[in-house]
Amino acid sequence: MHELDLMRQATEMASSQALRQGSHRIHAIVLRVGDLSGVVPEALAFAFEVTAQGTLAEGATLRIERVPIWCRCRSCQFDFEPADAVFACPLCGRASAEVLRGRELELVSLEVS
Ligand SMILES: [Zn+2]
Repeated sequence: MHELDLMRQATEMASSQALRQGSHRIHAIVLRVGDLSGVVPEALAFAFEVTAQGTLAEGATLRIERVPIWCRCRSCQFDFEPADAVFACPLCGRASAEVLRGRELELVSLEVS
């Protein structure tokens, strides 16, 4: 399961970051997850429960900030949230959009003590 590997990495990253700050307990982890990142937030939450066991993050809250997909049309430069899978521009109708946001998958912040 993809999410399990991801959360294992995120938990390790969070733990070493917490240790560097001199703390031994993580209360919350905030992840930013784009709608195009290919991961399922619900699966991440489950994976976190599993991977956090026995680490500094055990019992911590996982907060997920979802980032909607945002595109820019390469033809007319219009920025829009796509309504379909080909990301057609609502203004000129061309399907040649560049993805500006939505691929994020990153550790945003930690609450530690
Ligand atoms: Zn356009």
